[in-house]
Parts: sequence; structure tokens; C-alpha cells
Amino acid sequence: METNRILDEEMGLQNQPEDTSILRFSCLILLWLGMISCLFLGLFSDPLVLSGLVFLIVASVFSFYNFLLGAKITLAALLVGTFNLAQFFPLQLHVSFGVESSGLWMGIDILMIGFIILLYLTNKPIFGPWVKRIFKIDPNSREPIAEGRTKIEGFKSRFKDKPQKELESIAANQMLLEEARNAATELLHEKFSTLVAENESNSTTKKCIECGAPFNSEDSKMTELCPKCAHELYGYPIGEE
Ligand SMILES: [Zn+2]
Repeated sequence: METNRILDEEMGLQNQPEDTSILRFSCLILLWLGMISCLFLGLFSDPLVLSGLVFLIVASVFSFYNFLLGAKITLAALLVGTFNLAQFFPLQLHVSFGVESSGLWMGIDILMIGFIILLYLTNKPIFGPWVKRIFKIDPNSREPIAEGRTKIEGFKSRFKDKPQKELESIAANQMLLEEARNAATELLHEKFSTLVAENESNSTTKKCIECGAPFNSEDSKMTELCPKCAHELYGYPIGEE
């Protein structure tokens, strides 16, 4: 039991998109508080506030139905806010770069940068892999193939005694690490080809590829399945007894 739990944690979960914590909404909630205070202060006619309001509504609606997309729209809204194309708060913390009179001038809203960091910290499962890819700080990315191979072999040696059904469910589980799924898939292929090879070497006594039980090839209507599996899976009659 204990080892299974450790294994589950280890195989587990490059990310947990099903995270339901309210924390991931904190950025949107704070932006709404800012927007409400803008509206209380009568900033309705400010095009920047209206632009912010539209972004906020779109981001909130999407976050509700498709959180991943919503988080990306929230990020887009914050970037737009950073470059002063939208406003979510009555106050802005401007820092400008360049010489204003020369035209080579850029203002950045530091408050929005803070919110981008907050969004990242409260949605690490979504943005973490992304950031790693952008900055290439993922230690695994240096030798992805060699390292991936080692991991697959590690999982294979731990999975080798698992029954076929469990391997199939591991192979199909999108929540697990890719290496774990690949290891299960490879083991299934290996088991299958061993059984087929065994069957070819011995023409009368065969091993069923579905349940693994030995059977006499003359008893079954199917070459690779025992009479029972041929009946259950394909409806062939079980021989007269
Ligand atoms: Zn069978």
C-alpha cells in the first residue's frame, strides 16, 4: 500500500489542472475589486477603464468555463494593463523609460507587473511549464531523450509484475507522467509479442493473449484466444462439453 502511494506520487502529476482552490481566482477577484472602485469613483467614461472592464468580463467568463483559457486571457489583460492600454485600478504606479520629449518613451505600470507575478504564483501548474520552456530553466530539457529513456526503464522495472488491466489503465491515464504511460505501453507490447512468439513456437498448446490461460488450439475457434475469451469477446460458441 505504502509503496503504491509513493509510486503514485512519483508518477504523478506533472500538473493538476483540476486544482479547485479559490486561490487561483485571487488575481481576478482583486482586479474586480479595483474595477468596482474605479466605477465608484465615476471613471466610467475613461476609455482605459472601459477597456479594462471588457478584458475583465471576458477573462472571468472564460475562467468559469475553461480555466486554462481564462488564465491566459487574464495574463493578456495584465500585459495590456502593463503598457497602459487598459486600467483596472483607480491608481497606477507608472515607471517610464526613455526620454519623453524624444518620443522614445515607454511607460510601464508596476502594479500590473505585481499582478502578473501574483497570477503566476497562484496558477503555477498552468504557467510553470510555460515559463520553464521560455527561459529554458528546465533541468530535464538538456538531455531529454537520455533522461526520458532512463525514467521509462525505471518505471518498466517497477511495473513489470503488474497485471495487464492495470498497465492498460496506466497507459491511458492522461494525468500521469508521459514516461510512466510510455513504460506501461511498452510493457503491454512486450507481453503481447512474447505471447504471440510462444504461440508460434508451439502449435497445439497455446497461451491466450487476453487472459493468459493455456489452451489447446484445436478447442478454440480463434488462433490467439482461448475458447472462453473467444466466446466472451467475439461471441463464438464454447465447444460442446
Ligand atoms: Zn482467454
